[in-house]
Amino acid sequence: MSIKAKILLDEEEIPKAWYNIQADMPALPEPPLNPMTKEPVKPEDFVPIFPMGIVRQEVSTERWIPIPEEVREVYRLWRPTPLYRAKRLEEKLKTPARIYYKWEGVSPPGSHKPNTAVAQAYYNMKEGIERLATETGAGQWGSALAFGCMVFGLKCTVYMVAASYDQKPYRRIMMETWNAEVYRSPSRNTQFGKNVLGDDPNTSGSLGIAISEAVEDAATHDDAHYSIGSVLNHVILHQTVVGLEAKQAFEQIGEYPDVIYGNVGGGSNFSGACFPFVGDKLTGKRPDLKVVACEPMACPSLTKGLYLYDYGDCAGMAPILKMYTLGHTFIPPPIHAGGLRYHGDAPLLCKLVKDGWMEAVAYHQTDVFRAAKLFAEAEGHIIAPESAHEVKAVIDEALNCKEEGREEVIFFNNSGHGHFDLGAYDAFLQGKLVDYEYPVELVKQALANLPKIP
Ligand SMILES: *Cc1c(COP(=O)(O)O)cnc(C)c1O
Repeated sequence: MSIKAKILLDEEEIPKAWYNIQADMPALPEPPLNPMTKEPVKPEDFVPIFPMGIVRQEVSTERWIPIPEEVREVYRLWRPTPLYRAKRLEEKLKTPARIYYKWEGVSPPGSHKPNTAVAQAYYNMKEGIERLATETGAGQWGSALAFGCMVFGLKCTVYMVAASYDQKPYRRIMMETWNAEVYRSPSRNTQFGKNVLGDDPNTSGSLGIAISEAVEDAATHDDAHYSIGSVLNHVILHQTVVGLEAKQAFEQIGEYPDVIYGNVGGGSNFSGACFPFVGDKLTGKRPDLKVVACEPMACPSLTKGLYLYDYGDCAGMAPILKMYTLGHTFIPPPIHAGGLRYHGDAPLLCKLVKDGWMEAVAYHQTDVFRAAKLFAEAEGHIIAPESAHEVKAVIDEALNCKEEGREEVIFFNNSGHGHFDLGAYDAFLQGKLVDYEYPVELVKQALANLPKIP
């Protein structure tokens, strides 16, 4: 029998519970701190901006957390997602490695993000909230939340990073089609936005600024809550459907990855895809599993940041998180992988990197787009610039396998399609894409602004 191009699970095999890696971690990250008191955040501190269903998940250390039937029902619109064998890429590279990828580009918004957007909209709806406010980088998260809110009958307000708002109008149209209200961030809809514009009217914005605007909006309106697309524990929890499905699919074909790659913006798709496998490493079942986070050289939090307490947002309103950070006031260069322009990373992921359970690498965007082009030629899919970061790593690894005559199972999470990123592909094809050196000085300045924690 010929090798299957993709392994498809049944709808009944959509996981019934999310996996919480905290149950298996030998050491947990230090707790988030309240930005006012600098004391550990209490669950009730989250209550003005999150529903209780989410707050409970944020602080839970239970290994399995049931997925509500209503959420699984919505997941069925695109889940289970296929696990592909990238046979044509293998042939093109002439590698003995077997390359597999989970393809999250099949969801309505085109990425992994609705896995959590749908869940968050559901818990808010259950608790009577009428509107969710959020930020978005490349527009992927905003469109995912717009979709999730629409499904459960909530209103949605999105603060979109100015650089992406200008480069990527189609995502705004997508959000508006799903009935969301979209602001170019920094905006004049919040006090924080007005302040930033006062200092620099031409700023290209950042995820940090947009987060501050959305949190302010939610905190100052009773009928509204805030919703975040990455970084926090509950988001990562929801994203484990990706890795749990992948694990089942691997089981069906009798394979298991030797090495896992993924891109890291705030860390949600990578963590969601790899944590169910990393759990096997933590519990000694797969001690040799190698896990590699891939990030942009222009915003290299894991490879160049410091492991310290820093604000999750740029205004100092969000909780202070123990994470690898470039400084909450750092505004990264306007690379095309807008979803990777965040100054920190998920505390759970950072802790696992810090303790040596996984590693990290950083790439320049021209190398990343060269990999995306090769992937499109081999496998057809035109992928998101974010996803192309791990494809660059995978291609390098597959070529190493060829050189060393090494058979190996490589798995990566292909987090989304690049159909709204064709402007960036065009810049690459025309040789106009520029690399931004790691901005040492800007980061040094930003690190001087970290909160002082006694
Ligand atoms: C948002 C996004 C990312 C980065 O966010 P994470 O939370 O790190 O997953 C990566 N890929 C795509 C396609 C995205 O939309």
